[in-house]
Amino acid sequence: MTSIETVVGDITAISCDAIVNAANQTLLGGGGVDGAIHRVAGPALREACRQLPELEPNVRCPVGGCRITPAFGLPARHVLHCVGPIYRGGKHDEYQQLVSCYERAIWIAASLGLSHVTFPAISCGAYRFPIDKAAKISVRAVHKAVLSEPGIRRVTLVAFDDIMHRMWVKELQEVRAE
Ligand code: ADP
Repeated sequence: MTSIETVVGDITAISCDAIVNAANQTLLGGGGVDGAIHRVAGPALREACRQLPELEPNVRCPVGGCRITPAFGLPARHVLHCVGPIYRGGKHDEYQQLVSCYERAIWIAASLGLSHVTFPAISCGAYRFPIDKAAKISVRAVHKAVLSEPGIRRVTLVAFDDIMHRMWVKELQEVRAE
């Protein structure tokens, strides 16, 4: 059984096997949680990202995709860089792209034998995904993905504020009651 929990905090301070980054397609750093992760990890993280193959000029990961690097100065061991969708009303495949981020991060972690993965609220900042919808999507995607990945023992959803935390608490209660 995988334990899925939510906490309020700064993901860059969490010790675990892998923290997930809410990155952009360049993977070269940005604002929000991405900026915080790169600041704490140090310049080696940017260099590791830069060395990942480009799919097209300046695109190292598609929307809904995930790439892994070491975590360098962070207390975690690895960083799983996910590119969430920019929310544009919900009719541009944003839901499936957000599901895909959570699934792929879990699958990559499982394929490497990692057991504790920690997520921020992907797309819930600059990318403006409605947080109630994102909370539901993320809890359901994680819950489903770990069913077939018994090596994943623990998933932590890190909210940066109480509002996001409350959303995740509610969705976790609902999924447990089903
Ligand atoms: P996106 O571009 O995918 O929307 P953002 O970084 O703008 O990514 O925001 C994603 C979420 O991460 C937001 O809920 C934001 O409050 C949260 N966040 C920002 N900094 C941190 C941090 N240090 N730890 C955890 N969550 C963070």
